[in-house]
Amino acid sequence: MADTFPWPEGKRFALSLSFDDARASCLDHGIPLLNTHGVKATFYVLPHPVEEHLESWRAAAEAGHEMGNHTASHPCSANFHWISPDRRTEDWTLPQMETDLDEATVALQRLLDVTPRSFAYPCGNTTVGRGEQAHSYIPAIAKRFVCGRLFKSEGPVDPATADLSAVFGVDMDERDYADLVPYLDQARERSTWLVLAGHDMCLDKRQGVRRETLEALCVLADGDAWVAPVADVADHILAHRQVML
Ligand SMILES: [Zn+2]
Repeated sequence: MADTFPWPEGKRFALSLSFDDARASCLDHGIPLLNTHGVKATFYVLPHPVEEHLESWRAAAEAGHEMGNHTASHPCSANFHWISPDRRTEDWTLPQMETDLDEATVALQRLLDVTPRSFAYPCGNTTVGRGEQAHSYIPAIAKRFVCGRLFKSEGPVDPATADLSAVFGVDMDERDYADLVPYLDQARERSTWLVLAGHDMCLDKRQGVRRETLEALCVLADGDAWVAPVADVADHILAHRQVML
């Protein structure tokens, strides 16, 4: 591709901040910080924790943050010791996964009055079943959502060529801002899209995005980065691809 892409407002690259699992620290610390900077992020929420703090999550959605689908029961690979036997993707089928995805959408419609438009693969897993009986559930995501986000990926997303059903998501948990600068520089250099993925917000702990890191990322919105929710960036990419046809 040419090393430029027509991002809105003449911005040089796109940046999405995404946070998984609907952790309470997002409500307590993270969303107030984002709101102070006028930055909109994507939250891949699970219905159960949303229900526990319903008013606060409703307020976050009303403030313009994207509420994405992250399944209802968070199935993950049996490689994780903490995953309960009934949620091991190796033992799931495609219909079972589709039911779980749709349950999450219906729950979020009921709780938050929003229909999720993008998705984050729990633990970054994209398959169900095992061995010769394993199947990708990327097609099920493509049918339902404008975008699906992976986890612990290598770098930014090429807007000209990427399959939006499985875009790279770079881990920002437990990292200093300086650790993320090489990824930001790659995105800036080639005019691509960096999707960052984290969990807890403003907590210096395992699976937590540090406050200083988050603040430095928010400030990029005042410069050459188009900082926008995942579904908004995916919409923009698709609209541009239509023009290019
Ligand atoms: Zn998760």
